[in-house]
Amino acid sequence: AQVWSSVPLAPPDSIFALTARYVADTNPKKINLGVGAYRDDNGKPWVLPVVKKASRKVEESDRDHEYLSITGLPAFTNAAQKLVFGEDSLSVKENRVISVQTLSGTGANHLAALFMSRFYQFTKDKEIYISNPTWANHNAIISNVGLNPVSYPYYNPQTIGLDFEGFVKSIESMPAKSVILLHSCAHNPTGVDPTSEQWQILAELFLKKGHYAFFDSAYQGFATGDLDRDSSSVRLFASKRIPMLVCQSFAKNAGLYNERVGALHVVGASEDEAQRIKSQLSVLQRSEISNPPAYGAHVVSLILTDPELFSEWKRDIKTMSSRIIEMRDQLYNKLQELKTPAPAGRSDWGHIKSQIGMFSFTGLNKAQCDSLVNNYSIYLTANGRISMAGLNTHNLQRFAESVDEVVR
Ligand code: PMP
Repeated sequence: AQVWSSVPLAPPDSIFALTARYVADTNPKKINLGVGAYRDDNGKPWVLPVVKKASRKVEESDRDHEYLSITGLPAFTNAAQKLVFGEDSLSVKENRVISVQTLSGTGANHLAALFMSRFYQFTKDKEIYISNPTWANHNAIISNVGLNPVSYPYYNPQTIGLDFEGFVKSIESMPAKSVILLHSCAHNPTGVDPTSEQWQILAELFLKKGHYAFFDSAYQGFATGDLDRDSSSVRLFASKRIPMLVCQSFAKNAGLYNERVGALHVVGASEDEAQRIKSQLSVLQRSEISNPPAYGAHVVSLILTDPELFSEWKRDIKTMSSRIIEMRDQLYNKLQELKTPAPAGRSDWGHIKSQIGMFSFTGLNKAQCDSLVNNYSIYLTANGRISMAGLNTHNLQRFAESVDEVVR
C-alpha cells in the first residue's frame, strides 16, 4: 500500500525559490534583491571582521563538545538580555527577565508561540495579532502551534507608509489582553516603523487595554546603526511594565545566518513568576531540541562581553547600516534624475529614503515586479519588496534604469 499517497506536493518557499531562480540565471547582469541577507559593495556575503576575530578565539580555546544546558549558554543569554533591554533596565535588575537560547529568531518565535499556546489565557479564539503585511513565516509559526494569526492594519499602500490611524483603531477594538506581535524596528517587509511619538501612543494603548506585546527583534542595529536606538521600542514597553516577550536574532546584525544564534526573553511581573516561566520553557525546549548549539553562542557572547570586540562590532554594524542608507540615497537620486514616474499615490520616491532597515517597499505592482524578474533578471518578491543590501555601486544604475522602463 502506498503510505503517503495522499500527501500533496507543497509549493517551494517563495523566497528560497526566487534565490534558486537567481542562481540558475546565466545573465551576467542579474541582480538579487530577494533574500534579506547583507551583501558588501561587490554583492558578496560579508563576514564581519569582529566575527572573524571572535571565531578565532573560540576555535583556539580548549572548548569541549559537551551539551549546553537546556536553556543555553548563560554567558550568551545574560549578555543578549542586556543588549535588548539595556544596561540600566529595571526589569533585568529586578531579575524579572528570563532568557532561553533558541535556534535564531525563527526558533525564538516558535518557542514563544508554543509557550503562549500552552499557558496564555486567551480572551478570544487563541488569536495572535500580526501586522498586515508581516514576515511570511509569522503566519506559519503561529498556526503550527494551534494559534490563530489575525492581521491588524499596518501598511497603507496609498501613502506607502504607516496606517497609524488604522493600527490604533484596531488595537482599541481588540478584546482586552490580546497578544499583538510587533516588529521592534526595521519592519519586514515594509521598512516602515512607527515614530517614537507613535510608539508612546501605542504603549499607552497597550497599558490601557492590558494587551500583551510579542516583540520580534531581528534587526537591532540595522535600522539606525545604533544598537540602543533600535531597541527603544522594547525598552519603552518594558519601562512601562507592559507584559511582554522579545524574540531576538543575531542572524543579521552579526551576519551569523547559518549558525542559528538567538534568544527568547520573557519579562515576568516578579522574579518568582519569571522563574516559573523559565521552568516551563525548559520543559518545552527539552522535547523540541534538548539543547541549543554552542558555537555561535560562544562567538556572540565573546563579542558582547569583551569591550574591545564590542566596540568593533558596533563599527561593523555601522558599516552595514551606512552602506544600506547610502544605497537608499543613491537610488532615490537616480530615480529623480531619470524623472521616473512615482508609484500610484506618491508624488516622488521619497519613501525609498524614509523607509528603515534591510528592506524597501518600492510600491512597484505585481506586473512590474514580474517584468523585472522575467525580462531584466532582477529578482524581487512580487509584493514589490527589495532588499537594499542587494544594491551596490555596480548595479544601482542598471536597477534604476530598469525600474524606470517598467513603470513607463
Ligand atoms: N523575524 C523577522 C521579522 C525576520 O525578518 C527574520 C529573518 N528573515 C526572522 C524573524 C528570523 O530569522 P532567523 O531565524 O534567521 O534569525
